[in-house]
Amino acid sequence: MSLLARCALLATLAVASAPLAAQPARSDVLVLTTGGTIASRATGPMTDGASLVRGIPELAKVATVRVEELMRVPSSQVTPADWLRMARRINAEFAATPSLRGIVVTHGTDTMEETAFFLNLTVRDPRPVVMVGSMRGGDEVSPDGPANILNGVRVAVTAAAKGQGVLVVLNEDISAARDVWKTDNRRVDTFQSPERGYVGAADPDTVVFFRRALQPHTTAAEFDLANIDALPSVEIVTDYAGFDSTLMAAAIARRPRGIVLTSFAGGRLSAGARGALRLAAASGIPVVVASRVPGGRIVGNPNAALQALVASDLPPHKARILLMLALTRTSDRAALQTVFDRY
Ligand code: ASP
Repeated sequence: MSLLARCALLATLAVASAPLAAQPARSDVLVLTTGGTIASRATGPMTDGASLVRGIPELAKVATVRVEELMRVPSSQVTPADWLRMARRINAEFAATPSLRGIVVTHGTDTMEETAFFLNLTVRDPRPVVMVGSMRGGDEVSPDGPANILNGVRVAVTAAAKGQGVLVVLNEDISAARDVWKTDNRRVDTFQSPERGYVGAADPDTVVFFRRALQPHTTAAEFDLANIDALPSVEIVTDYAGFDSTLMAAAIARRPRGIVLTSFAGGRLSAGARGALRLAAASGIPVVVASRVPGGRIVGNPNAALQALVASDLPPHKARILLMLALTRTSDRAALQTVFDRY
């Protein structure tokens, strides 16, 4: 953020002093809190959800906010069962509250990409779901969490955010869940969409959108959690120089429903990993090859002769989520590839 923009935002924050209404009967925005650095301090336990939002009185100028704490964990501990819980809670809240404008989810940044992409494919409502986190804890100098929550709520009440799928808002940037990557271990501008760019910006004066994500999401996605107790298990195996296929054998021995194989650029694989694909083909377990390189697609399917599927430009951790969801509908290889071509 430029110095000028930062000053303008601080000026906005300084004049807003209305207290946050306590648990109003009718809410414009629901904030679901889950933990992460945004709830963390260097000393002491994580901040509870209500306190996290109570510390931002400026929110009252933007929306009536209700807070619900779903969990309080570092996002490295978030599991597929938690994704299911979050999606169910969001869908239930949208169904029960027609007046709700949108939902903001506070979350650790380490696995925000995963949770955002899962929700992007399983929330069944066009109203905005906005994920926010922070790179600095609440007691660090210049914490980014409060401004990110405020901006997340601003985006959630913006009409143009409806129908954009799940969004990630940090550092005033708005990213689409499918395209966003965490790119920096420490800096506040960590979330980028290297290939496709941001979808918009939460600028100090207004929220603007530049583009729309074209792949299906939310109401256009075909995945239904209603009859699912647990997601199908999918392992990730990573190729490397001198790959030893016993790792694939170990993965197959766990009898997952699917495997993602992380490849070099362009879907290229070591001799060991090509051997691993033969093992997987013999076991009948579908394998999706996803590139470890952020930019560009895997062109065509270079491993089709080894019965592998291809993830185009999805990174391995997102390919795993799509494979999990696709396997709730089909185990047929051609049908699974159609899902990857579509999403
Ligand atoms: N450890 C944190 C997490 O929960 C990192 C963060 O939130 O930025 O993901």
